[in-house]
Amino acid sequence: MADYPTSTFRWNRREFTALAGGTVAAFYYHGLSLAEESTKVKIDRIELFPCRYPMAGYFKFFAGPHGALGRAAVIIKITADNGLVGWGQSVPIAKWSYETLETATVALREYYVPALIGRDPTDIEGALMALDQVIAPGFSTGMPITRAGVDLALHDLTGKLRKQSLAGLWGLPSAETLTLSWTVNVQQLADVDALIAAGRERGYRNFNIKVSPDPEFDAELAKRVRAAAPDSFLWADANGGYDVDTAMEVAPRLADAGVDVLEAPLRPNQLQGYQRLKKQGALPILMDEGVVSATDLMEFHRAGMLDGVAMKPARCGGLLSNKRQIQYCRQHGLMWLGSGLTDPDISLAATLGLYAAFDLKTPAALNGPQFLTADVLQTPLRIEGDLAYVPTAPGLGVEVDEAKVVELMKQSGGDKLLG
Ligand SMILES: [Mg+2]
Repeated sequence: MADYPTSTFRWNRREFTALAGGTVAAFYYHGLSLAEESTKVKIDRIELFPCRYPMAGYFKFFAGPHGALGRAAVIIKITADNGLVGWGQSVPIAKWSYETLETATVALREYYVPALIGRDPTDIEGALMALDQVIAPGFSTGMPITRAGVDLALHDLTGKLRKQSLAGLWGLPSAETLTLSWTVNVQQLADVDALIAAGRERGYRNFNIKVSPDPEFDAELAKRVRAAAPDSFLWADANGGYDVDTAMEVAPRLADAGVDVLEAPLRPNQLQGYQRLKKQGALPILMDEGVVSATDLMEFHRAGMLDGVAMKPARCGGLLSNKRQIQYCRQHGLMWLGSGLTDPDISLAATLGLYAAFDLKTPAALNGPQFLTADVLQTPLRIEGDLAYVPTAPGLGVEVDEAKVVELMKQSGGDKLLG
């Protein structure tokens, strides 16, 4: 087990049958029989590549001994028994949520992969339900960041089987490009101007700022960014870093400073605090971290806690869940913004495909291109200035270079990954 990061993991049905025991094996056979009824194509093999993408620049979630090693990701390769391949990517950030590179790898290897072998890859909902059978949900969807990689790989494989892009699978048109936003996360105000200048030099016109816990610092930060970009969309994200009284004080101050929306002012379990902030009405209040399933969104909306949601498929267990949340927002007049988890290439391609299919109008805080310096694609995603071109080929629309995946995995520190 200790040597897992230095080699990929491979399973096929024969090996799995030899390894699996008890309940899981029974479920495996059940899944296989269902798959045989619905399609001739089955998931034959799944390989995992735990990696860390190299990074540039300061971002608080990647500070510290683990984050400094790079942006963690488990790249997932699902091969169907007709030879077609789907690629996905789980993108844990230990300092953003409780999922880590190590837990994602173990959950996939020991639980999710055995539940998927032999299934119909196009039955994505059924596959996700199968994952619930092996790791139970907690308050909401279990291991959502880890599961998202499975959801992405299944969408990729389904699109390739059907020769359709994500938008095509959903019967939707797709925008050609999406506008990206530049993330301003500074430890001192003296750094603001240089960071904005760096964004402008790259062609970025809109900015999202990281705020909390200090209201004085945050109000000044917002003023400086607004002064530097008077006509931009300015989005403040506190990542749950205020207490309720501080958030009530800071929201009007951020509004006065020119902020357009306030995301995640409180930890998501501060239900009454969110209700107070929404009633205060100083800024549109968005949630992020606490909204994992569409049920969470509906409950929080009905409880009067939010004006909208910062979306991110990586947080929500993948595209299927996030698509439902966007649809809910559209049906109920809620704001939805396009966000991400500093997504590397594969996850970024999926996220662009989702937002473009649903015609996202506001700049997307997809800052992978800002912070990550490597990719595993045959042809990198096309990003010009702050415009990301949406991939349109079947599946997620990108071709993964497996040699680059293996090389990145080898460069990622081998057995040091388990800490
Ligand atoms: Mg956020």
